[in-house]
Amino acid sequence: MDKSMSPSAPVFVLSEGKIVPPTHCELIVTDHCNISCQSCNHASPTAGKWNLTPDAAARDLARLGPVYRPRELRLIGGEPMLNPMLPDILRVARAADFAPMLRLVTNGLLLDRLPDDALALLDEVEVSRYPAVPIAPEAMAVLRKRAARVGTRVTEATYASFRATFALPRSPDALAETVFRGCKVGTLWACHAIRKGRFYKCPQSIYIPGMAKIGADDGFDLHGHDDLFPALWAHLHRHERMSSCHHCLGTMGRKFPHALVDRRDWARGAEAPAQDNLDPDLFAKPIWAQSRADDCRTVSTPRRPLIARAFGRIRRALTG
Ligand code: SF4
Ligand code: SF4
Repeated sequence: MDKSMSPSAPVFVLSEGKIVPPTHCELIVTDHCNISCQSCNHASPTAGKWNLTPDAAARDLARLGPVYRPRELRLIGGEPMLNPMLPDILRVARAADFAPMLRLVTNGLLLDRLPDDALALLDEVEVSRYPAVPIAPEAMAVLRKRAARVGTRVTEATYASFRATFALPRSPDALAETVFRGCKVGTLWACHAIRKGRFYKCPQSIYIPGMAKIGADDGFDLHGHDDLFPALWAHLHRHERMSSCHHCLGTMGRKFPHALVDRRDWARGAEAPAQDNLDPDLFAKPIWAQSRADDCRTVSTPRRPLIARAFGRIRRALTG
């Protein structure tokens, strides 16, 4: 079958008048990061310092919340712990009741920056583990103890491998179309993201225009429509490749062991054209033949005692 003919597209359902996407929505709380992973798909190693404010978070969630309800709101960066306003952003996110689940994704190096009252607002903290970035076992033990006290779950997601993500040279139409049609981020997962008043179909499309200097923004202006629901519904159902897809490998970049690189060299990884960094097996597979799983990520979630889970739920319901 011709991959460009694949009919696969994200499936959106309506529930109580709101659009429910397939998975989660990211709220970008900071662009920059304290480490520099090769091929970071948020391009954080070269990002300038930028922090979301609680007021801006409140404005965007209040605008989108009445028409859109993901299963999970994921607070992410860069490294979100670098944002000194994170506790207030968590208060805003909890009060907004934007999604049934609130998860913070962190590289785990600054865990002591999150006070207990902010930790208690989360359903889950997901610590991303990288082989080249050890986290002291004592620090994880302290987090687990604090989290158990306030009823928040702690998950560890290990990324032993990454895939090449960006290509600064522009891919021709046919190649960009095949990458887009086979991209799990844009299709099976629909990894939506909110940043600076705009809604993105994938986090890569936030950063590619700046990196590749393409002078286009694939984001949807949350505050530029009188009637948001029909505009967003139409935007989501326009399953077409974006300008950013011409500088992206989607989920079919070649796989390599996770590595830290010097920030000054980070962008060099994106200098090759897309065709030089593709995984030939994945490139040959249409989206419907691919596994839903992220093959770079291994998750471990220790079961918490029933009483701790119930306590956490009650506590968040009372503080929400
Ligand atoms: S921890 Fe690594 S992958 Fe995550 S935002 Fe920082 S540089 Fe990117
Ligand atoms: S920009 Fe990249 S991640 Fe986003 S839909 Fe296009 S190929 Fe997929």
